[in-house]
Amino acid sequence: MNDNVIDELKKVLPEDRILLQEPMRLHCSFRTGGPADLFLRVSSREELEGVLRILRQAQVPTYLLGRGTNVLVADEGIRGAVVTMTDRMDRIEVSGNTVTAEAGAPLSRIAAAAKDHGLTGLEFAAGIPGSLGGAILMNAGAYGGEMKQVVREVTMLKSTAASDQGSSGTEDTVVTIPGEEMEFGYRTSRVKTEGGIVLSATFALEEGDPAEIAAKMEDLAARRRDKQPLEYPSAGSTFKRPEGDFAGRLIEEAGLRGFSIGGAQVSEKHCGFVINRGGATSADVMAVIDAVRARVFETSGRMLEREVIYLGM
Ligand SMILES: Cc1cc2nc3c(=O)[nH]c(=O)nc-3n(C[C@H](O)[C@H](O)[C@H](O)COP(=O)(O)OP(=O)(O)OC[C@H]3O[C@@H](n4cnc5c(N)ncnc54)[C@H](O)[C@@H]3O)c2cc1C
Repeated sequence: MNDNVIDELKKVLPEDRILLQEPMRLHCSFRTGGPADLFLRVSSREELEGVLRILRQAQVPTYLLGRGTNVLVADEGIRGAVVTMTDRMDRIEVSGNTVTAEAGAPLSRIAAAAKDHGLTGLEFAAGIPGSLGGAILMNAGAYGGEMKQVVREVTMLKSTAASDQGSSGTEDTVVTIPGEEMEFGYRTSRVKTEGGIVLSATFALEEGDPAEIAAKMEDLAARRRDKQPLEYPSAGSTFKRPEGDFAGRLIEEAGLRGFSIGGAQVSEKHCGFVINRGGATSADVMAVIDAVRARVFETSGRMLEREVIYLGM
């Protein structure tokens, strides 16, 4: 990485939050992936904007990372910069029936804050291991709940053309978008299709009984522990649910329960999860994903779509 870029970054970010050649396996739930040239931990919108301006001017490819629970990073790592807000841009505020959280806040903490204030609606999110930013991009959901049902508005940073910044000029604008205009769909949203960076979101919830909310969360957590291979690194469901069916059922029917390549395996506990059994590379995980898609297509005529996002490849 160009020394000038690093010198510039040091003006907007403390040095201990500028990491060079940072192994991405430390930041992804699959526990695979090579080093990112630059790994930047921002703690405020001002820092984020400063970092983005410098990276853009220097034309450094830039990737955003939440808690890394839905991504697979190339074994070769990432040529460019990874920016994360999960360290300190994670404030949560409760006011009346609304909860506002910053992009780096873990969903589990947001759901817990809602519960502690007797607010119902986010129980489904308590066991999803991602951050708010990743959850908005993915319209994360579980057990009949999804972001779409509870998000009142999302505040984002959008890149727009700036007429006063020369030929390559773009600038970042903060916009607040109502939930109904977020184009939330199954594991997608307008952030995924149009780009942009989630800064924060506000949830509109309802008053509920704290004991009932806690009991529902515990019930869903028990269902997860019972059905999902939580003891192994993974990115949760590897494939999207095909219409009218389940990826896990199709994979099992194709005879792939326990199928493995290198250290990656179709979970024996839940066929919809590809897991890292130990020592897997991202190439192993990708090879299992490709083999599963091909075999399921042969046996059922259905082409599974990946839910996991590939980063740096
Ligand atoms: C054991 C396990 C269980 C899971 N169960 C579920 C489940 O029940 N339901 C479900 O929906 N998902 C589930 N997941 C998947 C994952 O937790 C969700 O998709 C989650 O929303 C991803 O959030 P993240 O912060 O980890 O995002 P990351 O994986 O870090 O990133 C995902 C995408 O979001 C982008 N992104 C991250 N932050 C921002 C931001 N601030 N602005 C714009 N883009 C951003 C990244 O660039 C990337 O493209 C599970 C994963 C695991 C490991």
